[in-house]
Amino acid sequence: PESKLPSLGTTIFSQMSALAQQYQAINLSQGFPDFDGPRYLQERLAHHVSQGANQYAPMTGVQPLREAIADKTAELYGHKPDANGDITVTAGATEALYAAITALVRSGDEVICFDPSYDSYAPAVTLAGGVMKRIALQPPGFKVDWQQFASLLSERTRLVILNTPHNPSASVWLKNDFAALWEAIAEQEIYVLSDEVYEHICFAAEGHASVLAHPQLRQRAVAVSSFGKTFHMTGWKVGYCIAPAAISAEIRKVHQYLTFAVNTPAQLAIADMLRAEPEHYRELPEFYRARRDRFIQALANSRLEILPCEGTYFLLADYSAISDLDDVSFCQWLTKEVGVAAIPLSVFCADAFPHKLIRLCFAKQEATLDAAAERLCQL
Ligand code: PMP
Ligand code: GLN
Repeated sequence: PESKLPSLGTTIFSQMSALAQQYQAINLSQGFPDFDGPRYLQERLAHHVSQGANQYAPMTGVQPLREAIADKTAELYGHKPDANGDITVTAGATEALYAAITALVRSGDEVICFDPSYDSYAPAVTLAGGVMKRIALQPPGFKVDWQQFASLLSERTRLVILNTPHNPSASVWLKNDFAALWEAIAEQEIYVLSDEVYEHICFAAEGHASVLAHPQLRQRAVAVSSFGKTFHMTGWKVGYCIAPAAISAEIRKVHQYLTFAVNTPAQLAIADMLRAEPEHYRELPEFYRARRDRFIQALANSRLEILPCEGTYFLLADYSAISDLDDVSFCQWLTKEVGVAAIPLSVFCADAFPHKLIRLCFAKQEATLDAAAERLCQL
């Protein structure tokens, strides 16, 4: 058939993980932990399965999970969403993003995003008939120039997609970024899709700034998160979005025919986990900070230049002292010849991205990080 997405191939994550497996490389490419999530969470899953919680969940998510999410959100961001009207449980953040974009973007609408950007946004916008307007952020800070942002707004602008903490740059938005965003879009009916899947992996002194903490923005915003990141269980694929009831109603119209509902026992187990062990997510920044710092320390004698990492479980490394290869070729070479798989940054950018930067995932056991660092230090 004629392709609706002719320039799209298989995601870089599938490609690099397959290459890592083929060459038996240490896989620091696709973002997932090589350690298990909490034992209690696993026990609760087994419990709910054994108790017969094995049929369809309600379309919007099980009540105990939506209530636990509402309470967690109130604790962290000072705003309690309505568990019934505002919260929708989805099959990972990926489904929430797709459903929100499909619900909000009409044919011919313009959508602003910040490159490098996570790779699932643009295809959804294209399929909805929208037009991407990209702002290229520059290393090392990847900060938004708000004048440039204002110059991109038009009467067709419908949606702004942001991601903080940011995959792949590991930069974060601060409160004043959200204030600047509001100032820029207040006068127009523009919606905001805030991808906050790394909300609990933020190292900034002021903590994670959520769109939900901004009283005006949150009235037009969809905040997306994922328990895959928070509980080290990327394979469970349970996420959610929070938006005012009128927006949620539109998102649910898509969600009900995309998946209808999400894995019942996993939702119940996560609800139990949020209630019983909230310290898990409260302590997550320290958990990952220790891994980040250990990995940076282990790379101190390498010829890689490590960029600042304010959030996520990814570290950016500049390899220009090592090789002239472009980043895609360098990552292939690194996987095949050095035995370490990484992700090139240019694949997250629509325009040429001439920097020599790779992304390394540090959600790994210490032994994995040490072994990878040893190989990288030999370059
Ligand atoms: N957004 C970002 C920025 C991500 O990094 C990821 C996954 N790593 C997702 C969305 C998708 O999350 P999920 O696996 O819950 O679908
Ligand atoms: N989001 C993960 C990453 O950035 C990968 C998710 C996926 O493989 N689709 O590595």
